[in-house]
Amino acid sequence: MAGSDPYAILGVARDATPDQIKSAYRKLARQYHPDVNPNDPSAEEKFKEVSTAYAVLSDPEKKARYDQYGVTDDQAGPSGNPGDFFGGAGGFGDLFEAFFGGAGAQQSRRAGTIRDGDDIRAEAVVSLREVLDGIEKKVSYRRSVVCDTCGGMGTADRSTPPRCNECNGRGVVTAVKQTFIGSIRTQTACPKCRGEGFTVPNPCGSCQGQGVVPKSEELFVSVPVGVESGQTLRVSGRGSEGIRGGTPGDLYVVLHVADDSRFEREGRNLATQADISFAQAALGDTILIDGLSGQLEINIEPGTQPGDTFRIKGEGLPRLGGGSRGDLFVQLNLVVPKKISDAEAALLREFAELRGETVPKGAGKGGFFEKIFKKR
Ligand SMILES: [Zn+2]
Ligand SMILES: [Zn+2]
Repeated sequence: MAGSDPYAILGVARDATPDQIKSAYRKLARQYHPDVNPNDPSAEEKFKEVSTAYAVLSDPEKKARYDQYGVTDDQAGPSGNPGDFFGGAGGFGDLFEAFFGGAGAQQSRRAGTIRDGDDIRAEAVVSLREVLDGIEKKVSYRRSVVCDTCGGMGTADRSTPPRCNECNGRGVVTAVKQTFIGSIRTQTACPKCRGEGFTVPNPCGSCQGQGVVPKSEELFVSVPVGVESGQTLRVSGRGSEGIRGGTPGDLYVVLHVADDSRFEREGRNLATQADISFAQAALGDTILIDGLSGQLEINIEPGTQPGDTFRIKGEGLPRLGGGSRGDLFVQLNLVVPKKISDAEAALLREFAELRGETVPKGAGKGGFFEKIFKKR
């Protein structure tokens, strides 16, 4: 397989214009297209390579990241050489996940001894009330910070670690294998420096040559109103620190909205239940229920049925970042008393009689159903 610098694959200069990149891609894509080269696996391979390179260089964001970092393929093993970007065992999908994925632990490798800091993931739990109001939330996490003793060099004398002489600082060694489709170059992490590209002959005692030490930290993050579970806040530069000139990673705070037994949430709307008695349902009443920002009064009309639902406008939650609030839906739950006194029973029988209903006899004695219900 050829090298993997997308510029080299497309045969364009690093400062090529989008038009030049596009036309170079079109030319190569026509040349290597599988339809033009049936049953030619090497052309197909080349076609994939060309498409992959164009996918990077035609996307301003991906191109910028490639230009900035040169190489970032953790899945295929650490490597310090921009030419290895598309090499290694990881497939196209793996690579892009590792490179452009979301809030995962990502790491960028750079040439030489520079090491960028890892991204860090932390979690924060917020209540529904905090979703309504927004909050500055304290987040605790651990990240790597530059070792004070060696200033991040990793060496006891604070000198720059020497380049590995086995791989000449590239971090990878190349082997050429002969196969039926020709020679294939494979690259593996350098065994001497374990892919680092440098060795630390006199490691710093405080960080064992790592240049960084773990540290517990706390930070207040602004949680905007309207957040939902799983949404993530990124705090730029608050991940692990880079060393020897590397940039720090980012801190990703994954938010969880705590369950509130009073409310169910669906987007901006909330739902709750309120218990009412048969007398309240029949006669009508005014009751107080718990809203998110305080108690709310609702009017029960005479003749209200079990399960009837009220919609209270503007008592839900705002959209992410603010805006008008959704609604609160209140479902009425008719509660039948579990035990009633003899006097109450007499009144209920009278009530039934007045309405011309069959007067209930009450539960029988010793019957099949009584045996079952008695257990309750
Ligand atoms: Zn140190
Ligand atoms: Zn090496």
